[in-house]
Amino acid sequence: MLSGIAATGKLHVGNYVGAMRTWATLQDSYDNYFFIADLHALTIPEAVRPDALRQRTREIPALYIASGIDPARSTIFLQSHVPAHAVLAWIFDCLTPVGWLARMTQYKSKSQSSSPSAGLFTYPCLQASDILLYQPRFVPVGEDQRQHIEITRDIAERFNAMFGELFTIPDPWIPTDGARIMGLDDPTEKMSKSTAEVRSGHAIGLLDPLETIRKSILRAVTDSRTAVDREDLSPAVNNLLTLYQVLSDSTRDQTLERFHGKGYGVLKRELADVASEVIGSIQGRFKEITADPAYIDGVLADGARRAAAVADVTLDRAKRLIGLT
Ligand code: ATP
Ligand code: MG
Repeated sequence: MLSGIAATGKLHVGNYVGAMRTWATLQDSYDNYFFIADLHALTIPEAVRPDALRQRTREIPALYIASGIDPARSTIFLQSHVPAHAVLAWIFDCLTPVGWLARMTQYKSKSQSSSPSAGLFTYPCLQASDILLYQPRFVPVGEDQRQHIEITRDIAERFNAMFGELFTIPDPWIPTDGARIMGLDDPTEKMSKSTAEVRSGHAIGLLDPLETIRKSILRAVTDSRTAVDREDLSPAVNNLLTLYQVLSDSTRDQTLERFHGKGYGVLKRELADVASEVIGSIQGRFKEITADPAYIDGVLADGARRAAAVADVTLDRAKRLIGLT
């Protein structure tokens, strides 16, 4: 199993319930690789702040561990520490038709900036490399990543057909609930790190002070009605119910039963309580983990060695098949 998160901003509750929580639950059954995509953080150069990037590449692995990922059972590493990612990405750049990249919805939405970089356009090739180097059977991600896993499969199949069978074709592993948490300030937009950088009240940050989390939840957009009607839920209220459901480990039915007919204020207060409890305990562990700054450096150095040992073998086989020896 392999997955990663881009070092583009502060991790939020969507990253937790859509991705990290699944990794932690499944890690016992597989050989796992979880990376921090620092190279992907460069695709929008206007947003790169070197000091912040440096800080996030320490903070994110500490949050992985605080969320239950065990560095003894799962390899945690920085993408840029394993050069094979960039080399295989170039090979994929050269065999991926421009038309495939132009169809990516993420490119369409993120290229609204004045002059999108070439990296923003080709980054699905880097992501395909990130994944395929480790030959995973599946990639646990949120719903928004489905199209990226599809293009990864297409690239793998194209390579296999053109140069010989090498890559395992991975499947996405998308949770049934919580795979697409929406913004608290706008239920039509996916909660995302980069939006949270420019809009306060958009996301529930995993490292936000608990008081801020409570306030953002209480201020979350709802709709013109006042009470939960299980037969007629607006996207905003549905999002709050989903968050309550996944954070409290309830079923959909239990959640609907609990809040049907109750005022939105009640739902928000109970969600704020459960979010503070879950995120508060992540923050407690985060504090312990980061008390010794050398600890994370050690985890990342060890992770880079373990990851490179696997990635280099795959890259070497790809190079031989393509004639680069
Ligand atoms: P960015 O704004 O930089 O794209 P992001 O919040 O979308 O940041 P990613 O690094 O793109 O985060 O994705 C990391 C993981 O978190 C992926 O598996 C993705 O599917 C998942 N994820 C991201 N946002 C959400 C969300 N709102 N709900 C559920 N899962 C999410
Ligand atoms: Mg994203």
